[in-house]
Amino acid sequence: MNIAKTCNKQGDKMARVKHPPYRVDRRNHGNIIGSIDHPSVILIHATQSGDRDGASDVRGVLEFLESTKKEPATGGGYGIHRVIDKEGIIGRGAKLHAPGNKVQHATGANSIAVGIELIAWSRFNLAKWLTRRRQLQALAWEMAFMSQELGIPLRRSKTHGVAMHREFPLGGHTDPGSFFPINRVIRMARWNVKRAARGKSYGFNTPLNPVL
Ligand SMILES: [Zn+2]
Repeated sequence: MNIAKTCNKQGDKMARVKHPPYRVDRRNHGNIIGSIDHPSVILIHATQSGDRDGASDVRGVLEFLESTKKEPATGGGYGIHRVIDKEGIIGRGAKLHAPGNKVQHATGANSIAVGIELIAWSRFNLAKWLTRRRQLQALAWEMAFMSQELGIPLRRSKTHGVAMHREFPLGGHTDPGSFFPINRVIRMARWNVKRAARGKSYGFNTPLNPVL
């Protein structure tokens, strides 16, 4: 089913945000536990792990999540939809659309949310986050694409919008931390949508987003 056609009226009127390129394609991997017909939340995580050069850190997170399937305690294993590292390399875990797009990434939100793991630490302060320009740009691009593809508004919301894992505290998680610039990345994502509407593309080599 093409959810974009049924959920996204905005897409009819303006150019679409171009799909970000995947440097690590793990299409529809990651311990699928069901389907979400209409995801309504984009949920942002931090992996609590360090950076490695190239795509090896992204690949490592996807492979780790996949390996959790073997541990009975995790009840089917963990998964995620996207992983983004410091360099802005994006890896794909589960696909965005049903069937087979539901994974276990946030207790209390798995049935409504698609998840993005940032390879980062929750202890980062604001200044540290802002040095990770490519990661935030790639995140904002992916958010803009997801928003248009799934009809999820680019605004703060735990039911229909963008949220952080720490806002679903059932599992005791605090990621992506108190200083993650959530409002800033939402503004950047909106800017990407506007840019697409003007027929401009967006890429990893563009200068720092002027909205910053
Ligand atoms: Zn998390």
